[in-house]
Amino acid sequence: MTSDALPRTRLYVDAPLAEGQAAALSEAQAHHLRGVLRLTPGVGLRLFNPRDGEWLARLDVLSKAGGSALAERQLRPPEPVSDLWLCFAPVKKDAVDTVVEKGTELGAAVLQPVFTRFTDVQRVNLDRLRAHAVAAAEQCERLDVPDLRDPVGLDALLAAWPAGRTLLVCAEAGAARPIAEAAAEVSGPTALLVGPEGGFAAAELDTLLCHEFVRPVGLGPRILRADTAAIAALAVWQMLAGDGRGRPPHRV
Ligand code: SAH
Repeated sequence: MTSDALPRTRLYVDAPLAEGQAAALSEAQAHHLRGVLRLTPGVGLRLFNPRDGEWLARLDVLSKAGGSALAERQLRPPEPVSDLWLCFAPVKKDAVDTVVEKGTELGAAVLQPVFTRFTDVQRVNLDRLRAHAVAAAEQCERLDVPDLRDPVGLDALLAAWPAGRTLLVCAEAGAARPIAEAAAEVSGPTALLVGPEGGFAAAELDTLLCHEFVRPVGLGPRILRADTAAIAALAVWQMLAGDGRGRPPHRV
């Protein structure tokens, strides 16, 4: 089979993937395969997860309640995943959906919602956001899905900050260095933090800057919307210091 002939449908599954083994498909996946793509048993699919890589599989059972596919052969072995975290103040529905979708495409390993003083949004629908992350991972040829964490307050985030990880705070005010300069100097595990539409409170910036793992970074002379800032910071970081410097896009 040439690579051109590989099935377009690509699904993330939790189940282990191994030759001849059946992988269970969820009710939502079955609904998508039946109702949207109108697939029937026998068609080829690609299944993936970060532990077993990507596999060519054949749809075996499909019903309203779920289904299964039989894994045939491995197309891609597991590979190291990007280690960039994105911490972001939740913003309104469309914008937060964008942050999760684009964050997934740009290789964020962890998506951490953070409540700050001027965060307007009170609630984060993690189920909806997880579904967006899975769909984006399926589309962009990732082998993993970012770890979307439960929201935390800024103080709790800082109190539990892991040793050895630099936190680049996107700061639209105060003494911030251009993110490209920080990219040339910072190495090792990194996270980005983007504030809400109302920005960070001055006291929050003061607190942030008291921590030795924090570096304030700027994204240019214009004030970006929070979703734009998240995308810009991730893109710049990945291309200058992250996995954008490595291998070319995976194409099937
Ligand atoms: N209300 C604020 C703007 C907040 S923009 C004001 O009018 O001043 C939302 C978030 O995007 C900010 O908290 C910051 O994290 C990020 N951001 C926007 N533009 C930025 C820039 N030029 N440099 C760094 N961060 C920026």
